[in-house]
Amino acid sequence: MNKKFNGVAASPGIVTGKVLVLTEDDLTYETKKVEDLEGEKERLQEAIQTSKEDLNSLKEKVKVEMGEDKAEIFQAHLMLVEDPELISTIQDKIETKKINVEAAVDEAVKEFATMFENMDDEYMQGRASDIRDVGNRILKNLLGIDTTSLLGIEDEVILVARDLIPSDTAQIDKDKVLAFATEQGSRTSHTAIMARSLEIPAVTGVNDLLADVESETEIIVDGLEGEVILNPTKEKLMEYEEKAKEYQNRREELIQLKEVAAETKDGHAVELAANIGTPKDLTGVLKQGAEGIGLYRTEFLYMDRDSLPSEEEQFEAYKEVAEKVDGPVIIRTLDIGGDKELSYLDLPEEMNPFLGYRAIRISLDRPDVFKEQLRAILRASVYGEVKIMYPMISSLEELRAANNILEEVKEELRQENKEFDEDLEVGMMIEVPATAMIADALAQETDFFSIGTNDLIQYTTATDRMNNNISHLYQPFHPAILKFIKRVVDAGHAAGNWVGMCGEVAGDKRLTPFLLGIGLDEFSMSSILILEVKERIRNMTLTEAENIAQKVLQMSTAKEIKDYLE
Ligand code: PEP
Ligand code: MG
Repeated sequence: MNKKFNGVAASPGIVTGKVLVLTEDDLTYETKKVEDLEGEKERLQEAIQTSKEDLNSLKEKVKVEMGEDKAEIFQAHLMLVEDPELISTIQDKIETKKINVEAAVDEAVKEFATMFENMDDEYMQGRASDIRDVGNRILKNLLGIDTTSLLGIEDEVILVARDLIPSDTAQIDKDKVLAFATEQGSRTSHTAIMARSLEIPAVTGVNDLLADVESETEIIVDGLEGEVILNPTKEKLMEYEEKAKEYQNRREELIQLKEVAAETKDGHAVELAANIGTPKDLTGVLKQGAEGIGLYRTEFLYMDRDSLPSEEEQFEAYKEVAEKVDGPVIIRTLDIGGDKELSYLDLPEEMNPFLGYRAIRISLDRPDVFKEQLRAILRASVYGEVKIMYPMISSLEELRAANNILEEVKEELRQENKEFDEDLEVGMMIEVPATAMIADALAQETDFFSIGTNDLIQYTTATDRMNNNISHLYQPFHPAILKFIKRVVDAGHAAGNWVGMCGEVAGDKRLTPFLLGIGLDEFSMSSILILEVKERIRNMTLTEAENIAQKVLQMSTAKEIKDYLE
């Protein structure tokens, strides 16, 4: 029998397939007194052996599929799992405390991790999370838990999970994963953003989905309407096959617009650019006819590994994008924190991570990390039209501090006779309400703004962008948001700067007339949305858009604005 669930339409497309449930591991165990100490020690050896085999096979797979660098972490874990000191500590605990091996492993791993955390050397502190990771692997094997690895997928599947963390999505093989559906996540969570980059249909925020679904269940994921249908009947399958065909036809129609300009009927042109996370996303970008990259989220280069990427490695990635894209490439400096973690930086656990130690705050606190990234970006600027953008600036002082460090780095490069584009533009994101209010002052010391509505909405309306329970309050149509956007565009223009937008609002075609009408110069979005927005722009005149914007700015509720624009 059909069972339908509603969620958030996170990434467009309709797919039918078999489910693969990604379960979270339950590592709870009971601490027990044991008599057969040798038996426990034997179990330890077996679990270590299995863990070694797991790690070896993961290492080989990753090496083949993702390259040598990505596989390094598994080599490091292999060394830890065989560490004689760790093993003897576990054995000692079994002997002296006469406890079961699960409890002994857990205690020993916690002690080792704490010891590493307390070391002065930052690299060693970062190893604590690797030790925990290895400890969990041994525990899983002791408890007989089978983990589903995203890398091992051989058949085509639809992934169903509570949530996919960014490092999961980074490993997804597009040829195997047809779609995904998750219980958590909103339209602007990174899972959703990654799905759109990969052009994989996705529905997020589907309450209670896991209670009803198991691996091998047949489901339909409708990323256009935000629907998931379990065990579809024949009629449903036919109905959705028809819908999928319609969508396919629509895409084919839209692709005709690839080469034409993004301009209104009366000739007002804007720039339509794409957001990317890695150079891999460029395939989609080139296919959809983006005129440039409005946001390169560099944090993905730092994720999924166990140490910072070197300057050289970053340089290669930035250079590749600069070379392949025929147009501006805006490289955003590291925006880690919030929902994006880096195990090796050992970021503090915080009550409010989105209001905490993240993005430019980390860069200014860790000038060593920041400078290395700026060097790599500057060096890559020789290979294309590169621009630098800072995330999460909240004051003029922060902007100045970042610019000062940039100047130091430029001077160093000059001293070393290393080339970079001396005229490279430097801009900042406007995603903190405070900066929307002082945009006039900030505009004097930047070349451009890019409005980050994903965060601007959450900070302005005090609504966590990740929390489904309050997603109705996360309102792009809120008049306060639209007034902020207008204010920022005006302030940028008054200083002679161009103003863009790289938050998800830029790709929401319901808001295209408003954004056009207030004079936004550049719209940057998931590449899959570009042609829809272009079609919208080409179907109206600038005067019409201006009139719509004027009307919208007079309205005082989100509902009124939304109803009018829809
Ligand atoms: C934003 O906040 O709108 C944005 C583009 O940045 P991110 O989604 O990476 O936080
Ligand atoms: Mg942001």
